Amino acid sequence: MRVVTTAQTPELDVQPTPLALLLLGREADPKSERGVECPGDLPSPSDPDLVERARAAKEKLGDKVFVLGHHYQRDEVIQFADVTGDSFKLARDAAARPEAEYIVFCGVHFMAESADILTSADQKVVLPDLAAGCSMADMATAEQVAECWDVLTEAGVAEQVVPVSYMNSSADIKAFTGKHGGTICTSSNAKRALDWAFEQGEPSTTKVLFLPDQHLGRNTAVRDMGMSLDDCVVYNPHKPNGGLTAEQLRAARMILWRGHCSVHGRFSLDSVNDVRARIPGVNVLVHPECKHEVVAAADYVGSTEYIIKALEAAPAGSKWAIGTELNLVRRLANRFAPEGKEIVFLDKTVCFCSTMNRIDLPHLVWALESLAEGNLVNRIEVDQETEAFAKLALERMLALP
Ligand code: SF4
Repeated sequence: MRVVTTAQTPELDVQPTPLALLLLGREADPKSERGVECPGDLPSPSDPDLVERARAAKEKLGDKVFVLGHHYQRDEVIQFADVTGDSFKLARDAAARPEAEYIVFCGVHFMAESADILTSADQKVVLPDLAAGCSMADMATAEQVAECWDVLTEAGVAEQVVPVSYMNSSADIKAFTGKHGGTICTSSNAKRALDWAFEQGEPSTTKVLFLPDQHLGRNTAVRDMGMSLDDCVVYNPHKPNGGLTAEQLRAARMILWRGHCSVHGRFSLDSVNDVRARIPGVNVLVHPECKHEVVAAADYVGSTEYIIKALEAAPAGSKWAIGTELNLVRRLANRFAPEGKEIVFLDKTVCFCSTMNRIDLPHLVWALESLAEGNLVNRIEVDQETEAFAKLALERMLALP
């Protein structure tokens, strides 16, 4: 089996990003949603005492620390998580633990930002490796989105547009969304968010600017809301006017930002056809960040929480091919194997999220030991104005029916 990371993944529809240069976390990248400095004197990955060191530091911190583990994290990290979940669940879990002074977020940068926005001012959010960003979140910068809004204004449609931004976006993009009357969504509530957005104006003329994941936007609009592919246009921030004419913008109902997840974007129709041929009777279950043709060919589609629940409810002897990040799929395969459920990764090529994988045990040990010694490291802090508008957008999501 071939092993690749997303940083090695050839992507056809985006401009090159500086990601490859940042893999060692040694450069500064002001255009990225993440920081990249890693000032830590990290323990060696070969240190045989890492597990014991993490346990001891966590015990010393006691209730002062709360460790959050995203579903896509490595097993070596997840074992120290007080709670696991998707990014939004984790941010809410952190807010529900006000006695925890330190929130150690084992996930990526935008998730730590969301946790900082939703927790109290006394709580400090720590990301063990500042180079753990998200390539999808990086595909929509504040400058690009402001320019897009100018293009929409020029075309005379901005007043009809309601922005809806996926949770997987930087705090700046969430703030833009809040400022322009929009809401945030997750992969679980994207349909409810779009229903809400279209109710904000005259339904026949209202448009949604969906950021930054074109696939989640398109899949929700077409699969869940009965729109046609022709109702959607793709705004490419690397082309003048997004590569769209004013007529195209006026005719569209969904203006999709040209962003995608490097992990979920790998799955193809061939992956689905191939697994069906290899495993007769297999159920194909994919995340809505996958391409539209993959979602259309799948048997079931849903968020990570949906995937976990579907496998919990699956009968013994059932077979599943899962289209989401490999750390989670492997963990689920191991968990459900004793119940006689066969679970495989949808693609033949193994692909982890390279930035999620940056949080490893040495980084976690370094962060926990630093906190235990009274050194606050790698704090993620969103400025007050950004936080206020981002929170507005998040609160609109929380109020969705
Ligand atoms: S799996 Fe995709 S969306 Fe999630 S952090 Fe990695 S690149 Fe970003």
